[in-house]
Amino acid sequence: MRIVLLGAPGSGKGTQAQRLQAKYGVPQVSSGDLLRDAVARQTDLGLKAKAAMDAGQLVSDDIVLGLIRERLAKPDAKAGFVLDGFPRNADQANALNAMLIELGAPLEAVLLMDVRTETLIKRLAGRRICKTCGRVFNISFAAPGTTPRCDNCADHPELFQRPDDKEDVIAKRLEVYAAQTQPLIEHYSKLGLLRVVQGEGELDEVFARMEAAARSSAARPKRKKAAKPAARKAAKRKPQASAKKKAAPKAARKSARKPVKKAAKKAAKKPARKIAKKKAVARRPAAKRAAARKSPPRKKTAARKKK
Ligand code: AMP
Repeated sequence: MRIVLLGAPGSGKGTQAQRLQAKYGVPQVSSGDLLRDAVARQTDLGLKAKAAMDAGQLVSDDIVLGLIRERLAKPDAKAGFVLDGFPRNADQANALNAMLIELGAPLEAVLLMDVRTETLIKRLAGRRICKTCGRVFNISFAAPGTTPRCDNCADHPELFQRPDDKEDVIAKRLEVYAAQTQPLIEHYSKLGLLRVVQGEGELDEVFARMEAAARSSAARPKRKKAAKPAARKAAKRKPQASAKKKAAPKAARKSARKPVKKAAKKAAKKPARKIAKKKAVARRPAAKRAAARKSPPRKKTAARKKK
């Protein structure tokens, strides 16, 4: 299983990625978790990433790509992976493609978690996490007036709210998603990898939909194998250039280019010569011009006759 979970913040990518990991034994590779871990350990990368994360902005590509490359190189990712929260923009998607070509492990599917904005906001604003076991709760669904505590740990520790789950940061994250991540829907749709999963409802129901979507991609191994070498070539080409090349064979492209060039040169040269001649004439002193106009052609004719 080599899949990407795509979706807005709060669409349930993390929760479902954990379930896929538990059932299929493939690691959840969450760029958000990798970054939070770097922040907690106060590494150089973590310190650089923190400000962007707290503001709901994307962390720079070089930081995120470094973390993902390192994670995918670990032995447990050889059997597959569930990418959660990565890629988040076009450059990351292209970098991922190149990385997976190097590893000889192309993507099988991109599952888009489709959730309404009002649900996203409710989920994010109510999300609370246990610091001890990491379990995620939602106080929007808890009884009013109760102090949120973890019922998974023996000592029931209090839950905490992620700094980027505060209301103003949520709005920014959704804005960033719409501007930078949403275009990946079309990108992966064009590649034939996108599967839309209805992300609302019971967790088990959503999980079953995801499994069905992932299975529908795995049910086409022949096409994937045949497409592999072509996909490698395509990855080295610029997407637009390859689309043009596909549309017209090489010979046709050559012959179509030449006449256009010749015609363009002709069209550009002719008037230029005429203009130059006119300018040269205009530059002669007025007396000479007048003389040239008045002088009779007879002299020339006479000279020619002598020859
Ligand atoms: P998440 O846990 O996926 O919601 O990510 C939390 C925060 O980490 C995001 O709001 C970003 O600031 C940062 N982040 C996570 N993944 C990425 C990524 N692929 N590219 C850039 N920033 C990311």
